Amino acid sequence: MNFDPETLAWDKMDGLLPAIVQDAATGLTLMLGYMDRAALAATQESGLVTFFSRSKGRLWRKGETSGNVLRLVELRADCDADALLVLAEPAGPTCHTGTDSCFGGEAPGAGWLGTLEKIVAARAAASPDKSYTASLLSHGPAKAAQKVGEEGVEVALAAVSRDEDGLAEEAADLLFHLLVTLKSRDVPLETVLEKLRNRHKPMRTSEEQTA
Ligand code: AMP
Ligand code: ZN
Ligand code: ZN
Ligand code: ZN
Repeated sequence: MNFDPETLAWDKMDGLLPAIVQDAATGLTLMLGYMDRAALAATQESGLVTFFSRSKGRLWRKGETSGNVLRLVELRADCDADALLVLAEPAGPTCHTGTDSCFGGEAPGAGWLGTLEKIVAARAAASPDKSYTASLLSHGPAKAAQKVGEEGVEVALAAVSRDEDGLAEEAADLLFHLLVTLKSRDVPLETVLEKLRNRHKPMRTSEEQTA
């Protein structure tokens, strides 16, 4: 990980930086902790998010007793290097009250698709007579793929003939079945999002347009 702890404003912060932890797949804000140099080094070395606990007075690896560890995905410093953003993959509920996030709630915006991807993956192991998702997945990609085709057509029809809510309903059907289809071939949503990110180009300047 090319993240240099020496560039951080430790002195200004009396050696303790606030660290916001975000679910790397959903963007959900999971918790806030504090890191000293040793906690950051332990996080980088072990790949498991570790804080300095002011109440315990020692290093605290999140999940050390509960097992609900946070696997490090990416570390970022803020603009003036006095706060950390930790992108992580949670092994279970992050809050000791049993909720995913210490702040409650669900992933905002399109981050919910990442949450739904996890739900679909969990349902893949369920019995097909108890779960529609499991029944779609029980015969390889064929069923889910057919549904993507049908829902795609329904979206197209709704776009020209139904009200806004009808279009939103069909778009929701399409996105769900698309997630199931991706799961049926074990293609992570992140791989798809990475392709979208890579396709992003700055808009042509007016000079380029007229040229
Ligand atoms: P854990 O690190 O999950 O094994 O939890 C050990 C102890 O740390 C719990 O009993 C709580 O006192 C505390 N704790 C766990 N998770 C959190 C959290 N997200 N925020 C603050 N304290 C926590
Ligand atoms: Zn700052
Ligand atoms: Zn909590
Ligand atoms: Zn539909």
